[in-house]
Amino acid sequence: MATIEEISTGLRIGALVKNSTLAEHEVVKKHFPLLSLALNAGASAQLRNMATVGGNMMQRTRCSYFYETSMPCNKRSPLEAGPDKNQPTGPRAVER
Ligand SMILES: Cc1cc2nc3c(=O)[nH]c(=O)nc-3n(C[C@H](O)[C@H](O)[C@H](O)COP(=O)(O)OP(=O)(O)OC[C@H]3O[C@@H](n4cnc5c(N)ncnc54)[C@H](O)[C@@H]3O)c2cc1C
Repeated sequence: MATIEEISTGLRIGALVKNSTLAEHEVVKKHFPLLSLALNAGASAQLRNMATVGGNMMQRTRCSYFYETSMPCNKRSPLEAGPDKNQPTGPRAVER
């Protein structure tokens, strides 16, 4: 449950993998850089070192970070977050 395996369709990520372990995994950084960035944008290093992928996904949406749109939250869809104003080429929105 705490392993990250490459499979033919991508990665199999165990529920007990720590957020920081997943963010720093070589394959994730190379092939899924957005996932790595999203994980590293969440919480603090101390929390990421303890929090698991399973716990992050199962955490109730009543969490104040989910509702505070100025804070990064791994569970909030980029579609709900609106345009990202910090892109080098100007604001960019994700289209449905
Ligand atoms: C100060 C602070 C800042 C934070 N900032 C952010 C942020 O910026 N972005 C963000 O996305 N999150 C943020 N979080 C939330 C944090 O990422 C989650 O609290 C954490 O990932 C939960 O993981 P955990 O392993 O501690 O789970 P737990 O808190 O132990 O569990 C959370 C829920 O998941 C269930 N659960 C846990 N493991 C499993 C499993 N293997 N199978 C089934 N159910 C399971 C538990 O029963 C519980 O209901 C923050 C939290 C804190 C305290």
